[in-house]
Amino acid sequence: MPSVAGPFSPVLPLRFGQFCLDAALAQPNLPGSAEPHLPSAVFPLSAQPTGCQIVQRHACPCCQQEIYPQNTACLNCGADLVFAPRQGVFVEVAQSPGGPCCNRAAIACNWQAETTGGLCLSCAHTTVVPDLGLAGNAERWERLETAKRALILMLVRLGLPLVTAEGIAVPRFELKGDPVDSAAPRVLTGHENGTITINIAEADDAERARIRAQMQEPYRTLAGHFRHEVAHHYWEVLTAADPARIAALRVVFGDERQDYAAALQSHYVTGAPSDWPERFISAYASAHPWEDFAETWAHVLHMLDGLETAQAFGLILSGPPRTLERLVEVPMPDLARDWISLSLGLNAVNQAMGHEAFYPFVLSPAVIDKLEAVRALMAEAGARGRCELG
Ligand SMILES: [Zn+2]
Ligand SMILES: [Zn+2]
Ligand SMILES: [Zn+2]
Repeated sequence: MPSVAGPFSPVLPLRFGQFCLDAALAQPNLPGSAEPHLPSAVFPLSAQPTGCQIVQRHACPCCQQEIYPQNTACLNCGADLVFAPRQGVFVEVAQSPGGPCCNRAAIACNWQAETTGGLCLSCAHTTVVPDLGLAGNAERWERLETAKRALILMLVRLGLPLVTAEGIAVPRFELKGDPVDSAAPRVLTGHENGTITINIAEADDAERARIRAQMQEPYRTLAGHFRHEVAHHYWEVLTAADPARIAALRVVFGDERQDYAAALQSHYVTGAPSDWPERFISAYASAHPWEDFAETWAHVLHMLDGLETAQAFGLILSGPPRTLERLVEVPMPDLARDWISLSLGLNAVNQAMGHEAFYPFVLSPAVIDKLEAVRALMAEAGARGRCELG
């Protein structure tokens, strides 16, 4: 069955691309018309150069109807589609060099296989999947992989390494459920030596909300988990690749050689210092320099993704639209200005709708300095792998 989730009605006009929203809006592409009225300023996907012009909104290669990122088929013309992550476009299954990921039937993975009949770029990073003999685990796996694909796509676009020197996919992801035996040790979400373990219970909204309340966290999402845990991996990888980076990170985040287990224990016993909002992005970030880095890294990814998406939907009107590849090169004070403005507006909209805050965080000057350190690291470390936009 095609996955057709998404907020886009088939009768919505075409409004995709970051470079020409106004032109697109001026000439809607109404389904049913014999010849789609594709605005000339909008790049046709068929002519899109590979590798660089990745945007947050996508069009069907057959009829130009907008495609929601998780869909496996076009809602308008019914074409079976796969997403090619390195090109950033949807293509028809029949035109795809590798065809669909072999996890497509199991978890509605809509990415293109790296080799015919094989896994996609994202699924290849998962080395342990949940026990599919247990009720609900297939759905949990699907939700986790959907969030992971979004992470992997960001990492690809940022040019950050995703393989070892030997060509092995890293980080590895182990998606595990708690043992049936309630006395057995629970699965802890975390990172160790290139392996990220996720407790699949986090894929259950009710369970995640329960833990969030228990931990008194203002924000807990699958995207947040993936972005946080992958930060620990990149601390290791990027500092191993260039030892000079570790000295720079210590200046900003402190000395990570302090006892990690003791620091976490102390954090859980005594809590965060009362002035943590002035120095940390979250209370948990105050537990240890590694956690400070990971929380900060996750927020940089939140901001980059949030800003690019907002631009793609016309929610940021100042300045020229910039893709993720360009946003990561923008100094943090400039990004933070747009991000705070956007967050204030979206928080108010959420409040108007009775929802919780879109972004329940405060960016103090000290925190912006930390965000800038991570942004600069991402930009520098990914520079060689990042696309050059025309
Ligand atoms: Zn279509
Ligand atoms: Zn896949
Ligand atoms: Zn952590």
